[in-house]
Amino acid sequence: MLNAFILIHGREAVLVDTGLPGHTRKIGKALATAGLDWGALRAVILTHGHIDHAGSAAEIARLSHAPIHAHEGDVPYLIGQKPLTRPTGWFGRIFRLTGMIERPYPKVAIDAPLQGAADATLSFWPDQRLTLIPTPGHTPGSLSVLTQDGQVLAGDLLSSGILLGGIAWRSRTQQPPFEEDTRHVVQSLQTLLDRGARRFYLGHGGPVSAGQVQRHVDWLIRHRL
Ligand SMILES: [Zn+2]
Ligand SMILES: [Zn+2]
Repeated sequence: MLNAFILIHGREAVLVDTGLPGHTRKIGKALATAGLDWGALRAVILTHGHIDHAGSAAEIARLSHAPIHAHEGDVPYLIGQKPLTRPTGWFGRIFRLTGMIERPYPKVAIDAPLQGAADATLSFWPDQRLTLIPTPGHTPGSLSVLTQDGQVLAGDLLSSGILLGGIAWRSRTQQPPFEEDTRHVVQSLQTLLDRGARRFYLGHGGPVSAGQVQRHVDWLIRHRL
């Protein structure tokens, strides 16, 4: 129901999102399956500061010594402030009652903060630069990771499938359970499309195509703004 991503380049890797607290072992196993260990991580990137994406970040930073990249806009969440949870529908309203999204998790120290609307580029692999693009909306400090060949890891800017995780109908896009500012979500998704994103990998569900994302943007404009 919840995706984190390992981008592998030769004997090195970048981790995008870290799952819930206690998911470290799962991610360690995934690295081992690829013949890698914690030392292979060049960077850990957090798409945003919700518990299901940043929950294991502190522990993974300790194990890997990799720098943590995130946007300054989500620092309050990363150091313990409860997130603003504005439900997008009935599922978000019920989910909020569980208190799960507001549970505290180990505080995360960011080594490389993105600021404002400025991109950052990770260029330790000359043939596969990663661009970190501020894409606010789901949270103020949400960011997306764009590869040179048009694949983008977009966190919770949108999701797909039923309920929280794309159990079925993974190609059907939808709003995630919470969204702080839908107008910013629309702008951020349009930015990614304009910058050549062709395939969107999501925190919940996915992947979906640029065409599906464009239809989601059009739907948001018609029904949610
Ligand atoms: Zn989220
Ligand atoms: Zn999420």
